[in-house]
Amino acid sequence: MEHICVICDDDPTSHSCHILDKPSTNIKIVYTCPSRATKYYDTKGTVAHYKNVLKIIGEQDWEYVCDCTDFGLKHAMCINTATNIVKLIVEKYYKNLKKINIINSNKFVYVMLKVILPFLNNELKSQIYVDNIQYICE
Ligand SMILES: [Zn+2]
Repeated sequence: MEHICVICDDDPTSHSCHILDKPSTNIKIVYTCPSRATKYYDTKGTVAHYKNVLKIIGEQDWEYVCDCTDFGLKHAMCINTATNIVKLIVEKYYKNLKKINIINSNKFVYVMLKVILPFLNNELKSQIYVDNIQYICE
């Protein structure tokens, strides 16, 4: 296992972002469940964690899965974390990003999406799949 994060070395529940294999493909899945991160408010540490995960992904094809189970107002308030992650992806890692899956969404996810959508380029916007589509329709 490659080194990902000094904060998670100390407490693995701090952030939630890890790499999974997509069965019978060469595609990597970057999975996050923000409500499972005990330090969800830690923007600097979370972004550093993502940087290392994406460094490991490198030039490989990948999909982003954001599991919004139990995503609440306190998570939606962490707009800074979300926008910094989006900026990192847009700057360096979007070319091999094949799909953005937002699962178990709710109204708080919709609020966050509204704020971060302007930071996404059109290519990335077209990759977003939300399992509860009513929340992105206006
Ligand atoms: Zn971490």
